[in-house]
Amino acid sequence: MTAAYDNANIFAKILRGELPCEKVYDDEHVLAFMDIMPRADGHVLVIPKTPARNILDIDAAHLSQMMPSLQTVARAVKTGMQAEGLTLQQFTESAGGQVVFHLHFHILPRWEGVKLRPHTGDMEKPERLKDHAAKIRAAF
Ligand code: 5GP
Repeated sequence: MTAAYDNANIFAKILRGELPCEKVYDDEHVLAFMDIMPRADGHVLVIPKTPARNILDIDAAHLSQMMPSLQTVARAVKTGMQAEGLTLQQFTESAGGQVVFHLHFHILPRWEGVKLRPHTGDMEKPERLKDHAAKIRAAF
């Protein structure tokens, strides 16, 4: 049994505009913004605008609606960061590595021979996040 959605989670606050984020894209279905502890330069999170804890409780219609947007953002991340590839991740529940309980997909730009940094590791400098976000925004 999946726990209930908690309206006080950090991403719910970002969606309501109560906390800031470095936004790269939004539309009817999703918001995409820079991860503050990026595992790779240009690490972006894509979240549905509908409340969902993770992949287990989002209804199929909302999940389907967000997929084309996820693809749009993935393309812009790859182009904007001049990446050679991407890794997509989604962590479900604490045992699965989930830390923030609003569904999100990680989009990680990848380059041959460049390892991912640790999950929820060091905070990135705001000016570097802004620089990467600008490159990604320019690629839509
Ligand atoms: P997960 O729940 O998938 O394990 O990881 C949550 C992700 O959110 C981590 O990659 C972490 O760096 C990121 N994160 C945590 N708090 C914030 C925040 O306040 N703002 C942003 N932009 N990212 C966050």
